[in-house]
Amino acid sequence: MTEPPTPCARCGQPMVMSRQAPPGVRRHKSRRLCTSCYPRVLERGELECYPRLRRSSDNVLEEYQHLHEQGIRSRAVLASRLGLSPGALSTLLWRARRAGDERAEKPLTRRDRL
Ligand SMILES: [Zn+2]
Repeated sequence: MTEPPTPCARCGQPMVMSRQAPPGVRRHKSRRLCTSCYPRVLERGELECYPRLRRSSDNVLEEYQHLHEQGIRSRAVLASRLGLSPGALSTLLWRARRAGDERAEKPLTRRDRL
């Protein structure tokens, strides 16, 4: 997979979003920051200036609860509406249940039923 390089939000240098980068090319670390900018931003306490790329699980659980209240029970449909893969949704729910989050205690159907 070769994606076009994205400029780092701080230094503007092109970086690749994958874990493997060709020699001399910067890698993305987090929050659209390259691996060399991220520690500097962290050190200066400016991380909040760079928004997360992914939503927090709290945000996803909030929307999950809302969709569930609308009667959507299919894991595949819920995952797609939340912008996640079904596997990622299961993992998120499992972690939330383990942490005692009641929003994750909703029954789900494994397969789509009409
Ligand atoms: Zn950078």
